[in-house]
Amino acid sequence: MPIEHDVTRHLADLVAFPTVSAVSNLALLDHLEAAVAPFGARIRRFPNAEGDKASLLVSIGPETKGGVVFSGHTDVVPTAGQAWTGDPWTLRREGPRLIGRGATDMKGFLACCLSALPEIAARPLKRPVHLAFSYDEEVGCTGVGAMADWVGASGLAPRLAIIGEATSLDLVSAHKGGLIGWARVRGKPGHSSQPDRYVNAVMAAAELVSEINRIRADMRNGPQFEGLDPPYSTIQVNQIKGGLHGNIVAESCDFFWEMRIIPGEDDLAVLDRIRRYASEVVEPAMKAVDPDCGIAIDVQARIPGLKPEADALTRQVLDLLDRPAPRYVSYGTEAGIFQLAGTPSFVVGPGDIADAHQPDEGIEIGQLGKCVVFLNRLGESCCHD
Ligand SMILES: [Zn+2]
Repeated sequence: MPIEHDVTRHLADLVAFPTVSAVSNLALLDHLEAAVAPFGARIRRFPNAEGDKASLLVSIGPETKGGVVFSGHTDVVPTAGQAWTGDPWTLRREGPRLIGRGATDMKGFLACCLSALPEIAARPLKRPVHLAFSYDEEVGCTGVGAMADWVGASGLAPRLAIIGEATSLDLVSAHKGGLIGWARVRGKPGHSSQPDRYVNAVMAAAELVSEINRIRADMRNGPQFEGLDPPYSTIQVNQIKGGLHGNIVAESCDFFWEMRIIPGEDDLAVLDRIRRYASEVVEPAMKAVDPDCGIAIDVQARIPGLKPEADALTRQVLDLLDRPAPRYVSYGTEAGIFQLAGTPSFVVGPGDIADAHQPDEGIEIGQLGKCVVFLNRLGESCCHD
């Protein structure tokens, strides 16, 4: 089938760039730019501070309001330590599946975008198609911000954005947001026979973890978002390290906290509660012994949640997918970032999320073909009619 042949060719090209998050994605962006050049694309790049990675925004058609954004990330997770049965960077076919790193997460969707373009651009566009390709998604969605902000503030006001993470081509309209980071507690070490002369970082950290447990209980009894599992926000600590020896008052204790917040709730207010507890309840006793002691709470990454868009818009996309209703998922995506920046956003992508990040990551070739058809229909309804 010609579509499937074409999308497979694009996917093979994309998989051959080993764009794990730790390395540059610029060579892949050059390849993408060359692929879209025949369609008269306007190119904008949003580089990182080091200049070795960038997001790429490709705009085709008139520079007018409306149209549609197709978005995906260019980075993939590493393959080291995984039991691959072939070269992860050479796409191969096994029956109905195409195998290679990123086949599902999410170069498959990028290949679908490239495959859909010729048909979308074959007739004059009344409104633009934007392809938005990001970096550093797999390390906490930290790369897409500048591009999403630009789209939101540009005045171009795309009708909607599709973030093509794997949903088996279901429409996902809501997911939780995430906020994660380290808490670092600094105490004062000394012989444990004289605990009151020193500051015990492990004990201070435990007080803070206890407060986090109370917040967790409050969340369980707090606002609910039916359809998410569980339907309330959660917070927890899963990693803690501190102390040197059983009879030395602990000098340091660090722990990693994570919260998953239902759409519409304020993650930063929760962080504020933890920080206030640290500074108003725990720290005063520490600093009374030694003012150099204290607690630092750092945010490592923040992924905003995704909340459902207006019913009419959601219905329009559902109809193009022949799906009866939207679905909610438990993983985070860049869709919340586009939505927060002002672009109505949904998650729809080919492949099963269970295949992402696995050895011998693969995707059903039929999913890619159906996704190209969906993107063509979406281009038709947003950019031609
Ligand atoms: Zn992904």
